[in-house]
Amino acid sequence: MTVSVVLFTSDLRLHDHPPLRAASAASDEIVPLFVLDRRVEEAGFAVPNRRAFLADCLRDLDAGLRERGGRLVVRTGDVSEEVRRVAAGTGARDVHMSGGVSAYAHAREERLRAELDAQGVTLHVHDAVVTAVAPGTVRPTGSGSDHFAVFTPYFRRWSQERLRDPLAPPRSVRVPDTARSGGLPSRAGVPGVSPALAEGGEKAGRALFAAWRRSGLGSYEDMHDDLAGDATSRLSPHLHFGTVSPVELVARARGAGGAGAEAFVRQVCWRDFHHQVLAARPAASHDNYRTQHDDWRDEEEAGDEIEAWRQGRTGYPVVDAAMRQLRHEGWMHNRGRLLVASFLAKTLYVDWRIGARHFLDLLVDGDIANNQLNWQWVAGTGTDSRPNRVLNPVRQGHRYDPDGTYVRRWVPELAGVEGGAVHEPWKLPEPERARLDYPAPLIGLADSLARFKQARDLR
Ligand code: FAD
Repeated sequence: MTVSVVLFTSDLRLHDHPPLRAASAASDEIVPLFVLDRRVEEAGFAVPNRRAFLADCLRDLDAGLRERGGRLVVRTGDVSEEVRRVAAGTGARDVHMSGGVSAYAHAREERLRAELDAQGVTLHVHDAVVTAVAPGTVRPTGSGSDHFAVFTPYFRRWSQERLRDPLAPPRSVRVPDTARSGGLPSRAGVPGVSPALAEGGEKAGRALFAAWRRSGLGSYEDMHDDLAGDATSRLSPHLHFGTVSPVELVARARGAGGAGAEAFVRQVCWRDFHHQVLAARPAASHDNYRTQHDDWRDEEEAGDEIEAWRQGRTGYPVVDAAMRQLRHEGWMHNRGRLLVASFLAKTLYVDWRIGARHFLDLLVDGDIANNQLNWQWVAGTGTDSRPNRVLNPVRQGHRYDPDGTYVRRWVPELAGVEGGAVHEPWKLPEPERARLDYPAPLIGLADSLARFKQARDLR
């Protein structure tokens, strides 16, 4: 009887899962294993919203395996230690897993390989599971660089890559009786979760994509920036936890065709782009990607302003609306992310790492590659080819929330303000303005622009 372990990480699905497929083909029995990783908890990344979503994902994965005659084995502790124990306890000779991109994922892989080798067990790492195209597959020609630093040429080359056909889920799974599991976590046991957090799990992810493909994909190109329209796929937490496969999303979107599908595939490519940058430059998760010497303000210098930003009380309605959506849902519209990040980094001139940390504390899709590198993009320390662009929150509000619906939805203090004044309540006549329980702008935009320019000129 041959046994293989399949170690699930950021790929919590049964459809299109190359490690599961390879293990099932090569052995009689498999151990589908997930380790609740103590190191992730100690590093402060196991925040309530992601823990709750993860609990949904694990329950759903277990249910899917049970439908096929198997079950999920859940352990808690150090990943390599637990995998080693499970392999020893079940007599497994092979362990299959998906390749990750962060410094942590690389270190985990190395530790695992070393410890399993010592036990005579082989580790197989499968590519293009977490991303559509594996980092490093597409490289710039002639420049000698190991990754693309500019999106458009990357997108061109990425688009020419032939992706594998999405794999069907296994029909049946046999798990050895000797594989002992701890209990499954549950969302109900996680305190401090955002009230409107989305549901996790492969079933929920597939249903979301199927519905959105029918009703949202066609208009994606026109609607994706409309804050109130909320017309993006909301698949980001599912992509982060791997409950949907990026390869399958791209294949199905391309199959549907049209301008909406093309625009959507381009966004999925942005995700791969940031992953290949992080894989090549793991330190970009905390250090500036480009060496710049910005003299950012920190908690000590700008503590009150940072807190007002976190609480959605900056006095700029569209910024506050987006920050409150983040707290309520554990998710924020991309246009909102762009403008609140620009506000923190370029209007308040606060270190992007402070904003990125707050996002990671709340975002259900909080992801080292996508979050840190998007923050760097907005802060002008990353891959943006126009690092000095500043988004004006008033103009952004008028443009992407033209009738103020998004602001009125999230900032109830302004629900009764009519017309375009909802984006500039400080212009309302007294005593109407004074009656609103809403703060005056934290900083004048002209003052902040002057501060930003001066700081950049001095650099
Ligand atoms: P859709 O518009 O439906 O796009 C489909 C998918 O494409 C997304 O689910 C996502 O996986 C990918 N995608 C879209 N835009 C981007 C982008 N700019 N960069 C990378 N991938 C993208 N995304 C995360 O998944 N996790 C994060 O922690 C995260 N932090 C961000 C921080 C900032 C400051 C900014 C500006 C963006 C961040 N994004 C992050 C990217 C983007 O905002 C979200 O992926 C998107 O809003 C998710 O909504 P959706 O699934 O409806 O996206």
